[in-house]
Amino acid sequence: MSLDGTYDPGNIFAKILRGEMPSVRVFEDEHVLAFMDVFPQSKGHVLVIPKHSTARNFLEETPENIGPLMLGVQRVAKAVRAALSPDGLMISQFNGAVSGQTVYHLHFHIIPRWEAVALGRHGEGMADTEELKALAAQISAQIA
Ligand code: AMP
Repeated sequence: MSLDGTYDPGNIFAKILRGEMPSVRVFEDEHVLAFMDVFPQSKGHVLVIPKHSTARNFLEETPENIGPLMLGVQRVAKAVRAALSPDGLMISQFNGAVSGQTVYHLHFHIIPRWEAVALGRHGEGMADTEELKALAAQISAQIA
């Protein structure tokens, strides 16, 4: 799968949205869902996805969904900062396999960074669920 293709309702994030796959949820409103990345590149790596969307990537998203989605990304990013006090925050989003995309439901990564802590490799090393739950609780407590 790359830049062009058809949305697959069986993708893992669609299953998470329908409650068919477990996830460690951080925040949701009527437009977005935020949950912990299970293969985090740093402590507190969160994914934000649109709830009512069949966009495989950013280029396919509707103008109506873009605004609420980006507001959700900013809201969660601020909560990650307040909860974990990182030195920086990386916000990333991949379009097409060659760019690093592996799941074809539009999503944004929020990845806190600390000085002298190297970034983990993309999609490497599964996190402990209890640890993710504790981080999700810390972050969700800071949602404004
Ligand atoms: P991307 O490579 O941008 O498509 O990102 C997909 C992300 O989804 C990766 O960072 C994976 O670690 C993450 N991921 C894959 N499956 C799950 C899952 N079941 N729950 C949470 N995160 C996932």
